[in-house]
Formats: sequence, structure tokens, C-alpha cells
Amino acid sequence: MIDFADSSYILTGIKKQQLIDFLQDCNNQMRKIFVLCDTNTQQHCLPLLQTKFPQTKSASVFSVNPGESFKTIETATAFWKFLLQQQADKHIVVINLGGGVITDLGGFAASLFKRGVDFIHVPTTLLAMVDAAVGGKNGVNIDSYKNQSGTIVLPKYVYVDTDFLESLQHDEKVNGYAEIIKHALIADNQFYKELSEKPNFEALQSIEKAISIKQQIVATDPFEKKERKLLNFGHTVAHALESFYQSHQQCIFHGRAVAAGMLVESYLSRKMGFISDDELNHITEFIQSLFAFDDKVLHVEELLPFMMADKKNKQGQIRFTLLEAIGKGIVDVAVPIGDIEEALVWFSKQNTRYGL
Ligand code: NAD
Ligand code: ZN
Repeated sequence: MIDFADSSYILTGIKKQQLIDFLQDCNNQMRKIFVLCDTNTQQHCLPLLQTKFPQTKSASVFSVNPGESFKTIETATAFWKFLLQQQADKHIVVINLGGGVITDLGGFAASLFKRGVDFIHVPTTLLAMVDAAVGGKNGVNIDSYKNQSGTIVLPKYVYVDTDFLESLQHDEKVNGYAEIIKHALIADNQFYKELSEKPNFEALQSIEKAISIKQQIVATDPFEKKERKLLNFGHTVAHALESFYQSHQQCIFHGRAVAAGMLVESYLSRKMGFISDDELNHITEFIQSLFAFDDKVLHVEELLPFMMADKKNKQGQIRFTLLEAIGKGIVDVAVPIGDIEEALVWFSKQNTRYGL
């Protein structure tokens, strides 16, 4: 039985020694260590891992192509075959070194290999640190359908270290920062104030705060019956935007889509009478100061069908996670289609480059 309320598996900063001790024990007990990475994290992050944790120097490394399209059962199978070739037994430890693609894929593969072996996430993107590596969801995509097959198993440890972010591209940092803002907006007014007064993409303190918010939400509702849906704030519109772009053979960074989604869904929160004009203006100014929106022309009538397909809908209504206040989310709010259209038109007027 997983204890989702226990956050002691998340190691940041000074708790590094705990992982050193664990890996040293593995070495002493001849437990084999495997590192799963992609070609980018192999180049940029593996040397750092080996310096920080010399116990991993003799680990066998399996490197996959980077990108979402390799988060598949085929890649997991290739990894399983590699483990078997290397005579891996039930006592091995798998270290997943990478962004959310690698933590999702590696968590999935390790939680099933020999009916489950220990695994450790070492997230190397901001998004993986504050989101993907926390909460125990692992999975792979099937064709273009995301996360269709998966497990809920917690890693033995998650090791969060901002040194790994040094080689990360700015756009990738933006992806993670959108999720940090989301965590503040749904759960912590004071945290939102701090972020908006002094944005810093790599501050360990903000990362720790964002992790603890996700961790607490997951602990309250591990299987997404209610509270975990708070984490969907901004994502109903974001997923529709991502699908819309995909249907035009283009893509949008997840963080930008979430930022746009948070604006539209904040507007809806105002429209439903939850937040004030001042609060909406504050959120709008803050998010627009950080995120440059793309120049794709949006058509409201094209976006709506993608929202109707969202898994959170019931009986043909579009249900949103909205803000009751800054720092307090509310789940399962059914919103009339007309209001959604109005919000999208408002968004495109705010961001004229989107056009309508
Ligand atoms: P990603 O793993 O694809 O990483 C983004 C890119 O950055 C990749 O090209 C990667 O090779 C590269 N990279 C990673 N770390 C680097 C570093 N330190 N230096 C240089 N390059 C580096 O993408 P992501 O945004 O981290 O994760 C997205 C995935 O996370 C999606 O598959 C999503 O479904 C998943 N996710 C899972 C959860 C969950 O709860 N399990 C939550 C949110 C997102
Ligand atoms: Zn997200």
C-alpha cells in the first residue's frame, strides 16, 4: 500500500546525503544500478550525476531518443530487453535521469519489470522537478494518445537539484514555470505574491514550494476523485490549444499553452463571479509579462470541439477547474459555452498577435 502522504522520498538540497548512503548500500550489496536517460541528458546531465554520486559511475546506461514520441511501450520493451541482457534481477535500482518523458517512461518500465523494482527519479527539467516526478503517475503513450497505459507507483526517491537545469533551454524552463504559477494560483496566495513580485525560474525555494503543493494535493486525493483535479487549472484550454496546433501540423510549448489556458480560465473565474476585476487584471499582467504568445491565428469555433472532447466533461457540459480566489482553486465548474466563447474572444483581444 502506497503512503501518498509521506513526502520523505523527495530529496532536495541538504538531503542529498540520504541518496548517497542508499546508493553506497546498493554498491556494497552488489545491487546493480541502471541509468535510463535520453541522448540529451546523457550528454548534459550524466557526467554531473556521476560527479555528484560516484556510486553511479559503474552503472549500466540505457539511452533513448529524446522526445514525447519515444514515450512508448516499444521503448519500454527495448529497455526491458537490455535489462535482461545485463542479467538484471529483482534487486536492481533504476535511476531515471531526464525530463518528464524519461521519468514517466522509466517509472513505468521499472514498476513493471519483474513485477516492480526500485527506481529513483533525477528530474533534469523544471517541469519534471515540480510536476512529472512527483505524485507517482508513470506511463506511456499509445500512438498520439497521451499516457494511455500506466501505473501509479511512487519512486524510492526523487532527487531535485537545480544544477541540472544549467544546460536546459529557456523555453523548457518556461514550461516548468507555468506549472509553478499554476500551483501558486490554486493553492497559495502568499506564494503567488512572491512569484509575481520577483519571478525567478530556478529558485530552489519556489521549486520546493511548488513540489510541496503538488505533493499535498496528491496525498489528499491520489486517484483524482476530486482535489487532484485542481492541478488541471489552465489545462482544459491548454490541451485544446495543443490539439488545435497538432491538427495544423504545428506545436506549441506546453508552458505557453498552460499560460494561455490560465488566462482564459481566470477570465472565466471572473465571469462566474469568483474573482474580482482587480485579481483578473493582476494575473493577466503577471502572466503576459512572462509569456510571449504565439502568432497562430485562433478560431474560437475550431477550439471548442477540442474542449468538448476533454475527459473532464460530463453530459455534454464543459467542466473547468477555476479560481475561487487567488490561491484557491475550485473543481468541476460547469461553464456555459457562450461564456467560453466570450473568454476566448477576450483572450485574443488581449493578445492581438493571436488574432481572431
Ligand atoms: P522532456 O522530458 O521531453 O524534456 C524536454 C527536452 O529537454 C528533451 O529534449 C530533453 O532531452 C531535454 N532535456 C532534459 N533535461 C535537460 C537538461 N538538463 N539539459 C538539456 N536538455 C535537457 O519534457 P518535459 O517537459 O520535462 O516533460 C514532459 C512530459 O512529462 C510529458 O510526457 C508529460 O506527459 C509528462 N508529465 C507527467 C506528469 C506526471 O504526473 N507523471 C505530470 C506532468 C507532465
Ligand atoms: Zn501541465
